Amino acid sequence: MNNLTVHVLKPAHLDTGHAEDAFRVAQQAPGPLQFELVEWEFDSPIAFREQARACLEAAPKVSEPAWGKIWSAVRNQFGVDHLKDIEQREPLQPAAPSSSLFSFMRQFDQQEAAYRKAHAVPPEDIVIFLTTQGTFENFLVVPGFSGRRMGTIQLNHPVMQAIPSHLLVGYYLFALPILLLAYADETLESYLAHHAHKDVQGCLNDLCQDDVRALILKTKTADVCPHCKSEFQRRQLDWDVVRQMRNGFEIVRQLQLNLEDFLDGFSVPNMTLGLRIEFKELGIAIPLSPKEAAVYETFVEAGSEGISLHDLNKHRNQLHDAYAKRYSGSNREDINRVVNRLIDPLDPDVQQVISKVNRKFNAALGDRCADFLISGKKGEPKRVLVQRHHIRRS
Ligand SMILES: [Zn+2]
Repeated sequence: MNNLTVHVLKPAHLDTGHAEDAFRVAQQAPGPLQFELVEWEFDSPIAFREQARACLEAAPKVSEPAWGKIWSAVRNQFGVDHLKDIEQREPLQPAAPSSSLFSFMRQFDQQEAAYRKAHAVPPEDIVIFLTTQGTFENFLVVPGFSGRRMGTIQLNHPVMQAIPSHLLVGYYLFALPILLLAYADETLESYLAHHAHKDVQGCLNDLCQDDVRALILKTKTADVCPHCKSEFQRRQLDWDVVRQMRNGFEIVRQLQLNLEDFLDGFSVPNMTLGLRIEFKELGIAIPLSPKEAAVYETFVEAGSEGISLHDLNKHRNQLHDAYAKRYSGSNREDINRVVNRLIDPLDPDVQQVISKVNRKFNAALGDRCADFLISGKKGEPKRVLVQRHHIRRS
């Protein structure tokens, strides 16, 4: 099969790192599907609020379609009582649903058409929106079906409060293109009626909706059941795409196990110190700005001695180099200006940067972030405690 581009669109204003983490997961399994992350102007918070207000009154009038009934039955089948919360990057706050599925899809059909036109995207390419909008029907993933190569995944769906979003979104970045290719001749309703599994089998076609336990099982057992496998064969789905999806599922599974081990206190992940600061085995990068990353790297490199804030000028060269290699602007004088502010003992800039860095680590790693923070008592040198053998350089 020829390569097929999957355009993963994230809202341009969203800078929390959630979309990027999920995208990096999707990039890890090579195959005919080539993933591209694109910033696109949709889900604008202002337009979204206005729309939500306008739709709020319409909500009770929307009649429940057939799939709503199917899903509420599935939802009732499992409880979430026995689930242990998995902590990681602070989840995005779920948004109140703003539209019915019908108007939601109509809106994304328009977005898709505008995107394809603006970028001359060929019709065979797949377009996936990572949205922060919800529907009254509470869909996490909405495949376009009916021949459309388009779908949406909700980044801030309520289930993301309990499952690391990069794993679930990563899973669906592999699964959604297959659903669109395999069931192109179905509508959402006929897919739900004839192909989705109402009981959990650890299969791509399990209907988990917002059942957290079922979703965790699905991503851990991540596979395709024998019935769906032969259905894919009957529909002459290209097996290279299926293979890529299954390899992708395996990566999601491995990341999930690593993350659980870390959060349960059994292991410390290795931190890669490159232009980006990331934890590859957890599939997480800390979304630091160039200035924040430069400050962080300088404190890490200072080792166990640490650095007193009023001595930061002794590390000027290192700070300068660390910032310069990440600086993407055109005015090189900016670099000196930024560094001079950071090392000025009377300027609170560096303290603000350190608080921001620590907040971002906390958001990404939860309670177990302590060793990775820039920390130290007042008036004493500040350091990053993590043992050196957990640091990789790239
Ligand atoms: Zn199946």
